[in-house]
Amino acid sequence: MKIVSNAQAMQKLSRSWHRAGETVGLVPTMGALHRGHMTLVETARKQNDRVVVSIYVNPTQFGPKEDFGKYPRPRREDLALCRAAGVDAVLAPETLYPPDFSTWVEETVQSKGRCAVSRPIHFRGVATVVLKLLNTALPDRAYFGRKDAQQVDVIERMVRDLDVPVKIVPVEIVRDSDGLALSSRNRYLSPEQRQQALILPHSLREAVKQKQPVAWLRRVLSRAPGMKVDYVESANGRLCAAVWVGKTRLIDNVKI
Ligand code: AMP
Repeated sequence: MKIVSNAQAMQKLSRSWHRAGETVGLVPTMGALHRGHMTLVETARKQNDRVVVSIYVNPTQFGPKEDFGKYPRPRREDLALCRAAGVDAVLAPETLYPPDFSTWVEETVQSKGRCAVSRPIHFRGVATVVLKLLNTALPDRAYFGRKDAQQVDVIERMVRDLDVPVKIVPVEIVRDSDGLALSSRNRYLSPEQRQQALILPHSLREAVKQKQPVAWLRRVLSRAPGMKVDYVESANGRLCAAVWVGKTRLIDNVKI
């Protein structure tokens, strides 16, 4: 498995694969890899000759008061998981931004509402870094989890609008046995908070059976102990919610 630390080296490697007639799948991540990420990797492994996983905690998608500094970075474990999964290259750059970086990708419809209300610069950072990663790994296909439903919507729109030659492959949400969607941020939860957080997946599943899922879910979550509702919204055929459990923000969604 190659560990690539800059964009030019990654482009060179990917071009050499393409010249040999091989297809390339990209799985963009921020590391702290878990079974959710690895399901994306397995899907990519089945559909492509070569698989690239990018591990990059992208500073431009974090707000000034968010957890960029404390975001987990277990590099050695991440690399071991990638190696075991048959990944061909891990793109793990120190930075992707020149010091005088001044160009942004801004999607202006899907990036409104939901997570953008409390994270106003988030999707500008996501769209920008994803386009940079696509231009770096030059994949035929790129894999994104439905856990971040709005992210999928933003990326699909960006790729369509800007004619980016890649197929976006959304992958279903991977959950723990108790129903909680796997997330690198779950490790911030105390055992008690983790118990409290379970109402999020459980009530989402119940809400879609109700006549007014959004209002019902908002009511249930706002009464849940230890939880503060960030938003409940339906968008593009999914019922989406974000909550705070202590200082940890969790998101989840289900198909309506
Ligand atoms: P992150 O490292 O949090 O940026 O996530 C990298 C990719 O993995 C994103 O496309 C996420 O949507 C996806 N992902 C994270 N957790 C899960 C999960 N539980 N199920 C499916 N995909 C996930």
